[in-house]
Amino acid sequence: MADIPTIDSRLKAAMDTLSGCGLCGNRCGADRQAGEITICEANSMAEVSHIVVHRGEEPPISGTRGCGNVFFQHCSLTCVFCQNWQISSLNEVSGNEYTPEALAMEFLKLQEAGVHTLGLVGATSHLPTVVPALIGARLQGLSIPVVYNSGGYDSLEALKMLDGLIDVYLPDMKYGSDEMARVYSGVTNYVAVNRAAVREMYHQVGDLVVDLEGIAKRGLIVRHLVLPKGLSDTVDVLQWLARNVSKSVAVSIMSQYNPAYQACTDLFPELNQFISKSDYEYYIAVAQELGFETIFTQDTDSAAHYNPDFSLDAPFSP
Ligand code: SF4
Repeated sequence: MADIPTIDSRLKAAMDTLSGCGLCGNRCGADRQAGEITICEANSMAEVSHIVVHRGEEPPISGTRGCGNVFFQHCSLTCVFCQNWQISSLNEVSGNEYTPEALAMEFLKLQEAGVHTLGLVGATSHLPTVVPALIGARLQGLSIPVVYNSGGYDSLEALKMLDGLIDVYLPDMKYGSDEMARVYSGVTNYVAVNRAAVREMYHQVGDLVVDLEGIAKRGLIVRHLVLPKGLSDTVDVLQWLARNVSKSVAVSIMSQYNPAYQACTDLFPELNQFISKSDYEYYIAVAQELGFETIFTQDTDSAAHYNPDFSLDAPFSP
């Protein structure tokens, strides 16, 4: 395996981004140490809103004992339908700042609590803290698989820093069209950034590999949330993945969309509805027809149950 970065080079790269950030596709170049305003609103410290055991991820991630998810504040995308909008876009719920040492301790505490996996949710903006935290935690015995759960808008320079630190990549592929990404997520280059990121993730971790309990040990799982009325370009996304990455990539085709945040207002009437069962079944059939070998699906009545409330200590409580 060529060119795995050293600990020192990772730490230097992580620190360097603070004075000219290019961690996501926005590449806004903000000097975060100097307090410059960033597009994602992240500052120089990692901000975490919740640390919880989550049982609702895909079965190889949550298993029976759950995934220890660390939910980071802010996001470089501004999805109008975001289900985590309280912590990603409006920051209605304030988070806590963490040093690398304190974050490493949280990772180890989750492992001690017995979860199958450690999930980093929305960590892209916070890699200057997350990278040294992961290195520190590994050196202190973190051994459960680390899952990097992102919107798929990570830059290649961000992902190179993570090479060898992440066991399972769990990125979104939200759209096959930059126009939809512009209207609904506020960026103009999503498709190119996303596809380059997915290729790099696959290069690093390959196909999903599970242990005897069915828990992910390593690999790529691509998530795609089906939006109403074909707005997420599902067929195009699946075709690209099958033709340009591999049919052996695990795909998680999600039916849990329900109108949240700005999508439940008059601003976006096309998003203010659920997806139809027949549309969802059609997309699953397309994935099967394309030859994907591992397809995670959801019940179409799951949509009503998936909105977290981050104003609560346990945001995924029923
Ligand atoms: S992660 Fe935030 S600060 Fe860094 S490039 Fe993206 S928007 Fe800018």
